[in-house]
Amino acid sequence: MFIDSHCHLNFPDLAKDIDAILANMRANEVSHALCISVDLATFPQVLELAERHDNLYATVGVHPDYELETEPAPTELVQLAQHPKVVAIGETGLDYYRLTGNLDWQRDRFRTHIRAARECAKPLIIHTRSAAADTLRIMSEEDAGKVGGVMHCFTENLEVAQAAIGLGFHISFSGILTFKNATLIKEVARSIPLDKILIETDSPYLAPTPFRGKTNQPAYVKHVAEEIARLRNITLDEVGEATSRNFRRLFLKQQQ
Ligand SMILES: [Zn+2]
Ligand SMILES: [Zn+2]
Repeated sequence: MFIDSHCHLNFPDLAKDIDAILANMRANEVSHALCISVDLATFPQVLELAERHDNLYATVGVHPDYELETEPAPTELVQLAQHPKVVAIGETGLDYYRLTGNLDWQRDRFRTHIRAARECAKPLIIHTRSAAADTLRIMSEEDAGKVGGVMHCFTENLEVAQAAIGLGFHISFSGILTFKNATLIKEVARSIPLDKILIETDSPYLAPTPFRGKTNQPAYVKHVAEEIARLRNITLDEVGEATSRNFRRLFLKQQQ
């Protein structure tokens, strides 16, 4: 069995076919998926998916790419995170690729999320793009390791992965890992401890080979697991078991 640790099932491309998407998950042994919030306006849609389906969970947070008139307050995030199916805070982090200029607000918002996560003792879903050094610096300054979490859709080098693991975080690989030219990321997937690895689709984006360029969905997370099995020379079952166990330990606080 496999668990997709990061998807956006409330996005229109996926929401309109939700029954087929859930059926494809079952057909491909994908037992659960974590639906990730990108802003507070659409958080109710994410929560509704998790309330309606036993095998879906939700997060609450505001993505670093979304410029807002009003920033979320830590108390607001903490309050929304009280729902039993909200298992993490995010996605949050830094993105210097999509946005440029004065990004003080992005760093402030990231700190807000880390403080909220610490206050409600839930792990963090961290997005980082072209901003690894600042992301790691703010994670340590705000003591994000108290709650831990995951560096989602990991595209950085081994040094960054090891620094994040040192701070108490997991590394999640997306379909990018299956791309031929993803040499650095493949090296990370080969080198870090298996008990720190999660898998995700980030659907509807980033479909893995052989679906590259198409709309992604949680069922395809199996292809990410297959690539990890190939790179580490272990079985697909071992990858499925380890990554599912890691997910349950991190987000559901289960020891088995
Ligand atoms: Zn992201
Ligand atoms: Zn995402």
